[in-house]
This record gives sequence, structure tokens and C-alpha cells, in this order.
Amino acid sequence: MIEIKDLSKTYGNGKTSFLALNNVSLTVEDGEFVAIMGPSGSGKSTLMHLMGFLDKPDSGSYKLDGMETSNLTDEEYAELRKHSVGFVFQQFHLLPRMSSVENVELPLIYSGLKNSSGGKGEKLLNDVGLGAKLKNKPGEKSGGERQRVAKARALINNPGIIFADEPTGNLDSKSQTEIMELLKSLNESGRTIVMVTHEEEVAEYAARIIRIRDGRIVSDERKRPIGAESTTRASVNMRNRADRSTATAEFRDYVRQAVASIMGNKMRSFLSMLGILIGTTAVIAMLSIGEGAKSSIEKSLSSMGSNLLMIMPGAPRTQGVAMQSGTVTRFTLADLDALKKLNGIKNVSGNVRGRGQIVYGSKNWASSVQGVSTSYEQMKAATPVYGRFFTDAEARSRERVAVLGTTIVKELFGMENPVGKQIRVNRLMFTVIGVLPSKGSGGWQDQDDVVVVPLQTAMYRLFGKIYVDSIDVQVADFNEMEAVTDMVSTEIEKRHRRTSSTPGYQIMNMAELQKTMQASMTSMTMLLGFIAAISLVVGGIGIMNIMLVSVTERTREIGLRKAIGARNNDILMQFIVEAVLMTLTGGIFGIILGAGVAAVLSALAKWATVISPWSVILSTLFSVIVGLVFGIMPAKKAAELNPIDALRYE
Ligand code: ADP
Repeated sequence: MIEIKDLSKTYGNGKTSFLALNNVSLTVEDGEFVAIMGPSGSGKSTLMHLMGFLDKPDSGSYKLDGMETSNLTDEEYAELRKHSVGFVFQQFHLLPRMSSVENVELPLIYSGLKNSSGGKGEKLLNDVGLGAKLKNKPGEKSGGERQRVAKARALINNPGIIFADEPTGNLDSKSQTEIMELLKSLNESGRTIVMVTHEEEVAEYAARIIRIRDGRIVSDERKRPIGAESTTRASVNMRNRADRSTATAEFRDYVRQAVASIMGNKMRSFLSMLGILIGTTAVIAMLSIGEGAKSSIEKSLSSMGSNLLMIMPGAPRTQGVAMQSGTVTRFTLADLDALKKLNGIKNVSGNVRGRGQIVYGSKNWASSVQGVSTSYEQMKAATPVYGRFFTDAEARSRERVAVLGTTIVKELFGMENPVGKQIRVNRLMFTVIGVLPSKGSGGWQDQDDVVVVPLQTAMYRLFGKIYVDSIDVQVADFNEMEAVTDMVSTEIEKRHRRTSSTPGYQIMNMAELQKTMQASMTSMTMLLGFIAAISLVVGGIGIMNIMLVSVTERTREIGLRKAIGARNNDILMQFIVEAVLMTLTGGIFGIILGAGVAAVLSALAKWATVISPWSVILSTLFSVIVGLVFGIMPAKKAAELNPIDALRYE
């Protein structure tokens, strides 16, 4: 039973406010069929919306089955709409992308009965005479058929009261009769019907006619007594839905709806996903390039050997600026021997470098030639994979023997075994005695493109040098690096009569160099990732835009969902799921595309790329977060819409 007392409703505020309902009092018994009539603008719809919990009164009391409802929360209103009342609208408000059955069963999503429906939608459609057109979409139906679908929907949760707002307003007279007969039979089966109409012949079906004008009831006439004994009572029915299986069913439904909405607007969804897609692609590709560069630099740094000091002639530099001029210290073979004798030093190798034209048969290759001591093999982990390294005896007698890097082997020998073959280095005949292990490209230079020959051979036979270019010192104990560095300095200064203020040489600690390089590579990778992440954020803003448009476009759909019982949170979730689904899809395709870009780069440009698992996890996570963050605003906007305002949105 509906008991209304002194109900008032004012639209707008301040100067432009309009009193649409003025102290209306009214009682509707269970099983009544009431028509509310009156001229346009008199307040009939307002009254019905208040009775149907689509809107809240400003003052007055509204009791449903004895329970006061005017002070309930939004959530509790949603519960009442869900279980106690059903709506039929003039504009039908069917969702165009769904079939009839889906439309009819839509309220079940929110009432949590979806799983147990057991073909209820089909049965109801049969009851309204639409059994043969179950799968048709609303667009494929006539107005009368659509209104019958809407009626079946209003009945699915078995409500006690049906509200019908101008149910025949958009129908021809034949359909009008059918629909009214349906309403009448519903009433005869015990349901309370409250209908708004302005047509007398439609109102004829009702047993009671209430007329209003300017927000007041002007007449209330009962033409027939209340029909059949009420079997379906207009009861307050607030079920508890905190059931887990309901929650998962609901979530599955959100995903289904989101997919439907994304697929329903393919072009728009694709364009908004594109932002995320490009963003993730950039993140994955950038990070993989950064990681690749980092790992190849690490590899080449570690192949330089650890515990190493590199002594070079020239002034020490601070941040690339020469500290002082002064003559340069030049190192000789005698310096090598002197350093070898110091305590704490394991190995010493001299180094000279130059370019060389390498010729084998008719093939020709320009490469770098390096003269080193025999200890180089051990210090730089350069034990040949084929053949052998040269010996001290060969070095002393300046033999023309060479160990080749793999790039040269590939260029000059192809599949042939180079060991034992004769090559020319700057026109001088050399015998190849070994092949060096591959060290990989160090980012900017190919470390396998090298010919290694004995130091003395390189100095005296190839380049005509009497000094070495640099000296590598391997320290026996890593913890002694600093002490040995000091010792080496003292020794050099003594031998070359220099002071520590004008040394004319510098000592580089490779371990430190390694650390600095790693740190700078890490920050470079981060920088690349950060730049790429900005594009993800931009993509997110794109998603937000689309979602806002989507909310506006679907305002009436939101209104309908609320009218059939969706709570604010249901709407919120629906839009968030949609946003996250879009960004996640974009993100996943972005990862695939990014991996592709990385693969193409490493194949074409020969860049080392590494796709680390954390970059994949990071960008997946990031796209979900972007969806959440940028989806929440539009979703909130949608959720907070007043059901009746949303329904009336043009
Ligand atoms: P009816 O259904 O009898 O045509 P309504 O109940 O829809 O009338 O509206 C009653 C009055 O309230 C009308 O003058 C209408 O312009 C006004 N009104 C209805 N809804 C709103 C609203 N959301 N904001 C401002 N005025 C409104």
C-alpha cells in the first residue's frame, strides 16, 4: 500500500524555482489500477517519479507498506527500485545493442538473480506474445513490440507495483489496445498499476482516475472497486546481496557490457586505445633498448677484466677538462718490466693500437690492430676458442703471428678455418694462430673486429713506435686497488722524474669506471622509460575524453539502469571496467608491438635489445592504473547522475 502525505517537490533553486508538486496526499491500495491525468506540466510525471523512487521529495511523507521512505539513502532507493517496483516508459528505453531477452533480463544483473533466472526472460516474452522474436534487437521491432519487451522487463523481478509513464504515447491505436490489455491483465493478476496518461480512452482502462493541475490533486474518482484479490503484494523487499557468487556474476556482466560497448563503437574505441598502444609500445621498446645497451656495456666492461688499472700518458682530466698542460709521460717496455716487479701486481700488459688493412686472398678488410703482452690472454679472458695465443718467445723475437677477432674471421674466411692461414696486415705477412672468443658489440664499437699481435711486433714492425700507448695492470687483490695505485704512481714518478703535481699520466680504475658506466646506463634507461611513460599518460587523457563522451552519450542508458535498480556503485564499476578493459587491451597489444619493434631494431640496426619481465609487468600495471585513474572521473560523473534527470536527458 502506498500512503503519501503532504508531498512537495520544487525544481531549481532561488529565483527560478518552480513548485511542481504542492502538498499532495494520496493513498493507493494494493491491486489498484490508477491513472494520473492532467494537462501538460501539471506535475503528473513528477508525482509518479516520486512514487517510483526515481526522485526524492523535498518534504512530506511517503510510506510503502507502512515503511517511511522519504529519508532513505540513495542505496536504499536503488534497492526499492530493484525489488518493489517496475517501470514502463513512453520512450521504451530499451538498450539498442542487446537482444530482447538480454533487455528483459537486464534488471536481474542488479538484483543478483541472473544465475537463477532459468529462462525467465524467455517465459515473460512468451507471456507478452513475443516468443518468436527473442533474439531480435530493439531496432528490428515495431513500437508495440518494443513496449511489450519493456513490459516484460518491468516484470522480471516480480514487483508488486508497475509504474507506466504514458505507455501508449508513442504507439498506433492497435498497439495501444494490445498494451493496455496487457496492463489490465497484469492488474487482474493482482499487481498495482500506476499510470500517467493524458488520453481519456487510455485512462478508461483504469479503475480510478486522479486528476492534477498545477501540482495539486483536483479530483479523485473511483469507477470500479478494486479487482481481483491481490496476490502480488506491493511489499517492501530489501534483500541482502552481499553474496559472493552474485558478485562474480555481476563482474562478469560488467565485462560483458564493457566488451559490448567497446565493440559497439569500434572506431572510437580503437582510436582511444591507440594512445595507450603507442605509449606501451614506446615504453617496451625504449626500455628494451636501454636494457640491451646496458647489458652489452656490462658484458664488454666485464670482458675488460676486473681488478684492472689502466695507465695512460696525458694529463688527468676532471669532467673532461685538462687540469694542466705540461709534458706527457711516455711509457717504454722498461716501465712494464719495472711495474711487473712491484708487490701486489699480478700481471702487466702493454698496449699499442692502430688501424690495419687486412688482406686474405682476394678479400680485404679494414680493422683495428692491437699489440699486447702475452699476459693479455689471462687478464682479458682472451683465451682463443680455436688455436692458441702467442708465447713470450714469439713476442721477444717479434714473430709475425696474429690472433683474430670473430668479425674478421667471418668477413675474410667465411666458413673456412683460419688457423694456420697467411694474411697480410698492412702488407706484412702474418700467420693466423688463433681465434679470440666473441665479446659482442659494445654499443658503439664492434669489439670482435680486431687483430691481436705481439706487442713488440706491433711496435717495431707494424707501427714503428718505441713507446707503448697504455699499460694495463692487474692487481692481485681487489681490496688493494688503492694501495697499488699509489705504489704505481710513486714508481712512475720516480722513473720519469716527475712530481704528483705534474704527473703527465693518468691512472684509471676500471672497477670504478664500471660502476659509473652502469649508473649512467641505469639513469639513461629510466629516462627513456620516463619519456615513454609520458605518452602513456597522454593516452590516458585520451581515454578519459572518450569515456566522458561515452557517459554523456549514454546518459539515458545510465538513467534506465538506475531506474531498474542499479546502485551508484554498479554504474561506477561498469564504467571503470570499461576504461580498464580499454587500456589493458591497448597495453597488451602495445607490449606485443613493442616487442616487435625491439626485434626489428635489433635485426635491422643491430642494436642489442633486452625485454625484461619487469618492463612487461610495469607497462601492464601502468596501463591498468591509467585506466583506473582516468576512468574514475567519468565513471563518478555517470554514477552520480540522478536517475530521472538521466532518463530525461536529451
Ligand atoms: P507533466 O508530467 O504533468 O507534464 P511534470 O511533472 O513533468 O509535468 O512537470 C511539472 C512541472 O515541473 C513542469 O512545469 C516542468 O516544466 C517542471 N519540471 C519538471 N522537471 C523539471 C526539472 N528537472 N527541472 C525544472 N523543472 C522541471
